[in-house]
Amino acid sequence: MLPSSNTLDLASHALALNVKAKARELGFDLVGIAPAESSQYQAYFRQWLDEGQAGTMHYLADRFEERTQPSVYFGGAVSVVCVALNYHAALEPVAPEQQSHYARVARYALGDDYHEIIKDRLYDLADWIRETVPGSRTRCGVDTVPVMEKELAARAGIGWVGKNTCVINPRLGSWLLLGEVLTTIPLPADEPATDHCGSCTRCLDACPTGAITAPYQLDARRCISYLTIEHRGEIADELKPQIGDWLYGCDLCQDVCPHNRHQPDALDPALQPRFPTGGLDVREVLTWDEDTYRAKLRHSAMKRVKLPVLQRNAAIVSKNLRARHGP
Ligand code: SF4
Repeated sequence: MLPSSNTLDLASHALALNVKAKARELGFDLVGIAPAESSQYQAYFRQWLDEGQAGTMHYLADRFEERTQPSVYFGGAVSVVCVALNYHAALEPVAPEQQSHYARVARYALGDDYHEIIKDRLYDLADWIRETVPGSRTRCGVDTVPVMEKELAARAGIGWVGKNTCVINPRLGSWLLLGEVLTTIPLPADEPATDHCGSCTRCLDACPTGAITAPYQLDARRCISYLTIEHRGEIADELKPQIGDWLYGCDLCQDVCPHNRHQPDALDPALQPRFPTGGLDVREVLTWDEDTYRAKLRHSAMKRVKLPVLQRNAAIVSKNLRARHGP
């Protein structure tokens, strides 16, 4: 006798619960399931690209169809298991005598390279899914594959995409690393997250370069994260002073977010900051040679930028700190 549709529903709900339990067992803080449907923001994304707001991140346009349609990227995909890992860590205060040389690093880059941490766990989750449902297929993604990661996470109920364009979970805030497993298995989807930004505009007000041009809209060309990490050429003179003391990335729009007030710290040893104050002495960075760079940033996400780019940033920060604190 063939199983009834009710039996199938029960089986897929049970499977979804087991997938989520496995994801938690692997150390993910949040897990949700989204349908592998096309992006709702294709027209906006196309316009954003056409206006040049992606700056030199040309790879975003290169695979537009795949990026906006999960089933084009991975044929047969019907569900996406979205996961998130909290990376927040308490930082030690910067000693007063160090402040005039202190250059900040975005929190996500303080621990070991998150790509490696998340990828290994996603592969384990995907292996488990395929073993549990023989004949199914999976594909893992973390940041580097062409999917609309934040939109999928919001659809899976992980958190809403805030006005600062970060995914915000009501319990854990926005210090979240995201990943996903696309699968050919139909799984019951979770409720999409609901927006709790309300009338708040703190992130828009806090951004020194005005990169958040309107709620939920980011002009990457002005974003300090883009400028210090993705942008490889000269930085426009008018933006240099606003980069302030950010050596690598920027957390200002998350630091001010009220939903990040009570975020618990990540317990994962791999995510603990290698620089306890969350930054570096800019004078040291300016003296690094290739060997020092490799030794200091071994297994660090900061190696996304090569030494010349890091020292380009350090020179800007150094000038800004001199302007702030005196020579
Ligand atoms: S700072 Fe306010 S507006 Fe910005 S993301 Fe957080 S809650 Fe939303």
